[in-house]
Amino acid sequence: MNWFKKNNTCTHCNKNKTKREFEGQPTCPECKKKILIAREPNRICPVDGEILLKENPHEIIIDRCPKCKGIWLDAGEIEAIKEAAQSEGLAIGMIL
Ligand SMILES: [Zn+2]
Ligand SMILES: [Zn+2]
Repeated sequence: MNWFKKNNTCTHCNKNKTKREFEGQPTCPECKKKILIAREPNRICPVDGEILLKENPHEIIIDRCPKCKGIWLDAGEIEAIKEAAQSEGLAIGMIL
């Protein structure tokens, strides 16, 4: 019995070694991010109807409009961003 988790090759990119698993498969953090982003439904900018681009700076997926540069957040994401910013000592300015 092997008590130590050995590094597995990520099953998604078959390249990165990882100790992490996602849904029972060895998955490196980059691939996990991509999977989560791909699963998020595409959103449309309420201002100009552009499809929002997904960005994932702090494990939080945000939707940004490429046209008006507006950022649209799901409920709860603003709190997660504030926490991430505080832990990194960043200041966030917001117009709500
Ligand atoms: Zn991977
Ligand atoms: Zn827009």
